[in-house]
Amino acid sequence: MSEDLPRPSATVPEGDPRAIVLSGPSAVGKTTVMRRLRAEHPELLIAPTVTTRPMRRGEVDGSPYYFVDDVTFNRKIEHGDFLEWAVVHGTFKYGTPRGPVDEARDAGRSILIEVDLQGARQIRSSMPEAFFVFLAPPSWDELVRRLVGRGTEDEAEIARRLQTARDELAAESEFDLTVVNTEVGVVCRELVGLMGSSPDPARRH
Ligand code: 5GP
Repeated sequence: MSEDLPRPSATVPEGDPRAIVLSGPSAVGKTTVMRRLRAEHPELLIAPTVTTRPMRRGEVDGSPYYFVDDVTFNRKIEHGDFLEWAVVHGTFKYGTPRGPVDEARDAGRSILIEVDLQGARQIRSSMPEAFFVFLAPPSWDELVRRLVGRGTEDEAEIARRLQTARDELAAESEFDLTVVNTEVGVVCRELVGLMGSSPDPARRH
């Protein structure tokens, strides 16, 4: 089966500082894009994520996420600390603290927020002025290949993630812009362009 995905067009707010929300189906390559952006563009503001998922090999607290237990996460929910939060893949909680996003807005700087679809929808309702970017796979077959090829999930988990991916692909039209993940460098350039020229004054030479 091979499905070509529709590509809506959008006006790109190049250089207009605001929250840029990046979402897309599981295994489309969001993590790779975010890792590349963190490594090559330390000048960009990227919203942190807090999660109850256990750390994987090679991860440390703060990179790519802040790892907390359920009690701590729930306390943050009660305190209203999150701009959005969601249970992803039916297991662990992930949330974006609102503090850094508010600070970026107050400083007139763009900030990139990577979330799953549930998170993107929450931000859409609380912050409609944000700009929503959908990272799409080149094709459905390619997405399946990436999901299975990653080798980190068992069969039941893959089946569940494929169902989630189907639902997430159907949500593409809710986004302002679709970026097709053909090559990580191209996606990064597009996102850097969207983030615009709002450099951290402390980093200026
Ligand atoms: P992983 O644990 O494999 O790195 O990420 C699992 C999923 O969590 C990915 O789909 C990713 O987009 C999503 N995710 C990462 N950070 C956040 C966040 O702050 N909020 C929400 N809602 N989802 C997130």
